[in-house]
Amino acid sequence: MIEKKILKLENRSENISKEQSRKKAIPTEVSIDPATQQMIARAQDLNIETVFDRAQNMKPCNIGVQGICCKNCSMGPCRLPLPKSGIQGEDDRKGLCGATPNTIAARNFIRMIAGGAAAHSDHGRCVAGVFVSAANKETDVYKIKDHDKLLSIAPYFNVDIKIEVDGELVDRDIDEIAVEVGEKALNEWGKPKGELLYLKRAPEALYKKWKDNGVLPRNIDREIVEIMHRTHIKARERIMMDMATRRDLESA
Ligand code: SF4
Repeated sequence: MIEKKILKLENRSENISKEQSRKKAIPTEVSIDPATQQMIARAQDLNIETVFDRAQNMKPCNIGVQGICCKNCSMGPCRLPLPKSGIQGEDDRKGLCGATPNTIAARNFIRMIAGGAAAHSDHGRCVAGVFVSAANKETDVYKIKDHDKLLSIAPYFNVDIKIEVDGELVDRDIDEIAVEVGEKALNEWGKPKGELLYLKRAPEALYKKWKDNGVLPRNIDREIVEIMHRTHIKARERIMMDMATRRDLESA
């Protein structure tokens, strides 16, 4: 019993000395933003470790930093570090599936893009859903206040803002426009055909360049899914560049 207590105390003091030996970030060196500097200092006063402190103690993985560790399938993980002496002649490093270091690095990179895009686009999907609820008056919490903005974006969604009544063009009901814009926007995530409607907001020459290069995004979810499935195993760097460009244009 006494031995157990001594062991516990020893562990505690070991933990305390470990904590004391951990480096802390110097706020003015890790951020130029005064508010962030204040928050880091405040967290340190309260003994709360932040990413800034942890970054002082964490050495980046030597292989990960080169982007050439792959664990996309259960045959791996495969690691292809660059030898210290460099590579003379042909680089014959390959993962079990035959992926080269360039392929692995490109796959890792584009999968990071897909992960970020999934997070941001799903946030957008939620916003579009709330917009549709507000347009349908299903909630009192949110209201569509900026009608000018709504009227300015409606044409990009192919939504009419005027209708013909007795041979005359008159303003369409704003609630009707809002519902149609909301539904068209929500459809952008999973529509089976076509391309993203907002691409037409780009200058014509740029739009043509994207079209000629075959990188117009089809729908938001499709590009993310394609990145994940085509980079599971195989996939060449050129194909990944096309996929990454399509994904980037979605966010533009
Ligand atoms: S996908 Fe290829 S490189 Fe990646 S873990 Fe599997 S076998 Fe290795």
